[in-house]
Amino acid sequence: MSKERQVSKLIDSKIGKIDVIWNLTQECPWHCNICTVSAKPINSLRGSHELNLEGKRRVLAQLASGNFEVDFSGGDPLYREEDLLIIKEATKILPKDLISISTTGARFDEKRLEICKEVGSVEFTLDTLPGIENPARPQGYTESSIRGILKCVEGGVKTRAVTPLFPLTMRKEKPAISLSFSLRMWLPGMGITKILSSR
Ligand code: SF4
Repeated sequence: MSKERQVSKLIDSKIGKIDVIWNLTQECPWHCNICTVSAKPINSLRGSHELNLEGKRRVLAQLASGNFEVDFSGGDPLYREEDLLIIKEATKILPKDLISISTTGARFDEKRLEICKEVGSVEFTLDTLPGIENPARPQGYTESSIRGILKCVEGGVKTRAVTPLFPLTMRKEKPAISLSFSLRMWLPGMGITKILSSR
């Protein structure tokens, strides 16, 4: 074994798995006012800085040969067919528990659900209750997340809801939309048992 490989194995044994959030694409069907990745409309990045299918396959092979847990994120990593292929290929070469997906619920059909069943967990962002206007998100976003959550829960997928902390979700004087409280009361009824808050 080469010295480099020995060092690499030693590091792996000391630090455990390294979490990688892989933004498979910057393209997203939504246009949120608080987007932290400056997402771009679907089909707007063809031939640009984004990796093509072969480039993504090379990255996947590198991740699979290392000491990584991979969270597929974006943009929306479950929207484009090419990205579905990459995640499907990941499920063939990585253990289920080392793969997670962060998605929006858009286009969430049976094919996407079957892929989600092959990964360790799936995560949806939820920062308002249904029917409450959310200036940070486009119309329909919350309902899309909820549809995805329900499908995943019904399909037996380990499903997580994430609530980013920003003024709307933390406003104490309007408890109906103080998500830290309201979602915690509401989500368990949907089958969600773990809720993360992030900022
Ligand atoms: S869903 Fe996420 S990636 Fe897409 S625009 Fe909204 S914040 Fe950005």
